[in-house]
Amino acid sequence: MSFENLNLHPLILKAIVDSGYTNPTPIQEQAIPELLAGHDIMASAQTGTGKTAAFMLPALHKLATPPKVHSRGPRVLVLTPTRELALQVSEAAAKYGKHLPRVKVVSILGGMPYPLQNKLLSQPVDILVATPGRLIDHIQRGRIDFSRLEMMVLDEADRMLDMGFIDDVERIASATPANRQTLLFSATLDGAIDKVALRLLKIPKRIQIAAQQARLDNIEQRLHYVDDLSHKNRLLDHLLRDMALKQAIVFTATKRDADTLADNLASQGHEAAALHGDMSQRDRTRTLTKLRHGGLRVLVATDVAARGIDVVGITHVINFDLPKFAEDYVHRIGRTGRAGAAGIAVSFASGKDGVNLKKIERFTGQQIASHVVPGLEPRFKPRPGGGGAPRGTPNVAHKRSRTWSNDAGGRSANSANGNRDNSRGRSFVNDNRGNSFRVSSTQSPYARTK
Ligand code: AMP
Repeated sequence: MSFENLNLHPLILKAIVDSGYTNPTPIQEQAIPELLAGHDIMASAQTGTGKTAAFMLPALHKLATPPKVHSRGPRVLVLTPTRELALQVSEAAAKYGKHLPRVKVVSILGGMPYPLQNKLLSQPVDILVATPGRLIDHIQRGRIDFSRLEMMVLDEADRMLDMGFIDDVERIASATPANRQTLLFSATLDGAIDKVALRLLKIPKRIQIAAQQARLDNIEQRLHYVDDLSHKNRLLDHLLRDMALKQAIVFTATKRDADTLADNLASQGHEAAALHGDMSQRDRTRTLTKLRHGGLRVLVATDVAARGIDVVGITHVINFDLPKFAEDYVHRIGRTGRAGAAGIAVSFASGKDGVNLKKIERFTGQQIASHVVPGLEPRFKPRPGGGGAPRGTPNVAHKRSRTWSNDAGGRSANSANGNRDNSRGRSFVNDNRGNSFRVSSTQSPYARTK
């Protein structure tokens, strides 16, 4: 199918041609006709599948016809879990809507100054992209007029659920017209998401895009077995010396690790900086702008901050620490191989990571080939069945009787004492014998419900 068959407005098609897209992705092919026909949809689609255009193109198509209600409020509302994703959605709106006359896109994000947002909201808005918490503030202060809202998009709804935003989302929905069209995008469509959909969507069409259909085919995935932290650092140093690496995102498990690693890399002369949820919005934006403009070669990030980063120059993603959830792996590696470019995703896995590795491979349906750098070989190979090593990894010596060592320097999987990564809502405390305990509250606003 070609984009011409989708009956989108010619000025939107023109922007698609400018973007260099030749054919719609599966999610676009399935979602756009349903949306143009006015249906609600709930779609399972990962990042990297082209899901942003799948909702933004029909949203812009709506804007090409005059509104039925006359007011200054938004006609399209997109809710996202993170500020970075919101900014990416806003950029997509500007990119695909650039030939349409006067499409005003406004982002309302936490951590940004209120006076500027108040000013933006006092002017006519077509597309409002927002994180739920800050939007609620503005709604309560009576600053938003939803009387002409036609479409509401819940992007990464599973993540909003995980982060405890879903009550806010429902309150926002109740402030919008009941006859709106509602779209829900989520990595997975499970029971919890179904309940949300039941409350907010009207007889939605379900669209399922398998993880394998995510556009990962242009990303080469590699695995390096590692012995300890110092081994990881030496491997990272080796990878960063590769001239083919133009820009990289290195993922760590915690914010504190991101800071430490970025500082270490910077002191070794790398153009490196950290990005995580504890930084002010201004610092995050400054770092991302630097990355986008090529002033930064290595970004060391946690999952929450890296969501939505769409920088074409990212040639490598390096999982310094493996993610705990398989969906996050797909999100992370989708930061490379953007817009059809080739990308390389390297993951470090230690003895503790066997189960995670298996979950990731099951989720993507792809085995990650293990690689060895001469001179930096791991000492041990994980036990069969316990380490998740793909079969046929001949490069590493296998010693059944030995177990993997812990990271050197007393670094536990979640290193810092009492460190908490808000993206996951899990706290870890270390006792004075170096044991790490997971402390999680079922009441945590970030608790994962699935
Ligand atoms: P998303 O899943 O929305 O994060 O999009 C992933 C990437 O795919 C973005 O860099 C888009 O610019 C790109 N993209 C979206 N639709 C298409 C398409 N039809 N053909 C090629 N690239 C696309």
